[in-house]
Amino acid sequence: MDKFLLIGKSLQEIEKFMVDNNQSKFRAKQVYNWLYLKSVNDFDKMTDLSIQTRELLKEKAQICSISLKEKQVSKDSTMKFLFELGDGNCVEAVLMRFDNRANLTACISTQVGCAMGCTFCATAKLGFNRNLTASEIIQQIFLIQAHTGLKVTNIVYMGQGEPLLNFDNFIDSVKMFREQFQVGARRITVSTCGIIPAINKLADMDFQSTLAISLHAPDNDIRKEIMPISKKYQFDGLLDTLKSYTQKTGRRVTVEYVLIGGVNDSQEDAKKLAYAISKLKSNVNLIVYNPHEKSEYKKPSKENVMKFKYILEASGKKVTIRLERGADIDAACGQLSLKTKNK
Ligand code: SAH
Repeated sequence: MDKFLLIGKSLQEIEKFMVDNNQSKFRAKQVYNWLYLKSVNDFDKMTDLSIQTRELLKEKAQICSISLKEKQVSKDSTMKFLFELGDGNCVEAVLMRFDNRANLTACISTQVGCAMGCTFCATAKLGFNRNLTASEIIQQIFLIQAHTGLKVTNIVYMGQGEPLLNFDNFIDSVKMFREQFQVGARRITVSTCGIIPAINKLADMDFQSTLAISLHAPDNDIRKEIMPISKKYQFDGLLDTLKSYTQKTGRRVTVEYVLIGGVNDSQEDAKKLAYAISKLKSNVNLIVYNPHEKSEYKKPSKENVMKFKYILEASGKKVTIRLERGADIDAACGQLSLKTKNK
């Protein structure tokens, strides 16, 4: 019989499990606190439980179904974690601290591989294997906390996979973060390559976290060259969907734009982009392309990056340039390709 998987379960579900196993109900709260407040990954460390209860838990329950296989630390102290799932597949997650801030941001995966085929992204080269369950999504955070002793304060769904194509598990995992891990909705961001029907669903369900859109192009011609999804969900339709999203939710979206040298980084592109998103309630986050061995693209020049930024700012947008984190350990955006696993 499968063991009862604890991470992801609500207090009520753990209570039911305890009662079904002839334990008193209040033991559940102790287990719950060990898991979600203290990130303890070992029944023997749950010292306020009797030995008999701990033995029962070991026999009938498991804390996680995934395990940490490898951890790498970058020069800038970014950490990359390789997790092995129960079926032997692997996914990666990244933990980043930004200077002068207490925030600790975890970037987590939602799928094994990815089906979107963006030409500049290393994860795309893996192809798609399967969706993660909601529990597997949040176990990444649990294990990061258990192994570092640190509390994750912000979560970005920007690891491997397309979160909105694993919609139900993604939504369930957001609920679990909010309820079990007590992470505020405003500290959670989901990034999507633009799955129009799923964005419409989010708009209708009072999604209180931040939606980021990997736009990466000023029009459909350039976008469909680098993001095949743009053949199905086209640029103009996507912008209309985002506009109605901001109207319905009253929330601003983040437009992500990877600057790739010679592909989408000209001043002409910046002007076109500024025009295209002028009526979209949004901030812009520019990402300098991170090179990797699986693609031939080049970084943009520093000058092009600054000019691009100025043009958008002059149009009235708030623009940030995403700090590059963890590039020396292939933990930067678009570099998550399980290199360590395949070695
Ligand atoms: N599938 C979702 C979540 C991935 S988020 C999405 O597309 O938004 C990862 C972000 O890094 C995306 O914006 C992606 O387009 C970007 N990215 C991919 N490859 C990159 C690279 N080589 N350099 C910089 N950013 C990259």
